[in-house]
Amino acid sequence: KLYNIVQDLKGNIRVYCRVRPFLPGQANGFSTVDHFEEGNITLMNPAKYNKEGKKSFNFNKVFGPAATQAEVYSDMQPLVRSCLDGYNVCIFAYGQTGSGKTYTMTGPNNITEETYGVNYRALNDLFQLTAEREATFSYEVSVQMMEIYNEQVRDLLATDGSNKKYPFFLVLLFFPMLPVSTTTDVINLMNLGHKNRAVSSTAMNDRSSRSHSCMTVHVQGKDLTSGAALRGCMHLVDLAGSERVDKSEVTGDRLKEAQHINKSLAALGDVIASLSTKNAHVPYRNSKLTQLLQDSLGGQAKTLMFVHISPEADALGETISTLKFAERVS
Ligand code: ADP
Ligand code: MG
Repeated sequence: KLYNIVQDLKGNIRVYCRVRPFLPGQANGFSTVDHFEEGNITLMNPAKYNKEGKKSFNFNKVFGPAATQAEVYSDMQPLVRSCLDGYNVCIFAYGQTGSGKTYTMTGPNNITEETYGVNYRALNDLFQLTAEREATFSYEVSVQMMEIYNEQVRDLLATDGSNKKYPFFLVLLFFPMLPVSTTTDVINLMNLGHKNRAVSSTAMNDRSSRSHSCMTVHVQGKDLTSGAALRGCMHLVDLAGSERVDKSEVTGDRLKEAQHINKSLAALGDVIASLSTKNAHVPYRNSKLTQLLQDSLGGQAKTLMFVHISPEADALGETISTLKFAERVS
């Protein structure tokens, strides 16, 4: 298909969209999603029932409200697996608070085998593939977890409760890397990360929606026949909520947070947009997030921007701005 060829020429950036279902208790809601198929989604403004109220967007893939975690992951699987071949990969979950970013990346609170998110599935999948390649490759997989809040990077796997401050460009070198090789390791790791995140959220209500959290998977491989070494790395990023904050209504800390979030999401959008148009200058230096991930954005690295939208009518404004952001980077 011509469309696929064009995508290949544009390089290693893909954009997916997922529509959250209505939540229990809002079952009679009127969805702003008129219809979707493959890579297309059409929104409808419930206030305008005629054609004028409709707007279409094109991405690489659209997942509707009935899509399961397994279906979503199976589409991302080749991307995840490529880090065992030495590729660097970034997967970003973008969208307003409540649109399902954490559900996709981690899962819901009352997690089950079926509802495990991308983080868990990706690591287990890597274990499976390393086992399959055991005869020809040896691999070590280790993980870091961090949070970026107000342009400060914090280690989420610190066990001593310390909050050491590193020059951020050293973060990927100095934050502890936990070796993981089993499902139990992964569950323990995630629990520790969640616990550390929760500690800070008591001090400031629901900080998780106002910080970026990132799980980084490092892979070191060795070709047992040739002895050649390879290194791959994957960043799984649950971004801060993208909703616009009414500047006239917030002051102090809340305003500062909002400004940091707007700035870093805009910087991320600028970087990906300039990579997708093959601009010579890529403005990595405008935020901590893009600086931190610089080596994994551009070049041979693969990027997936996974935008999330809520179906409710009162979210329509944010939904449109989310899809415009996605269209700009695709
Ligand atoms: P965000 O991280 O974007 O703020 P969440 O992932 O916390 O949003 O999702 C908000 C609520 O919607 C949570 O209760 C979550 O479990 C639920 N939810 C999100 N996506 C889905 C989905 N695809 N299927 C079922 N429930 C979902
Ligand atoms: Mg969340």
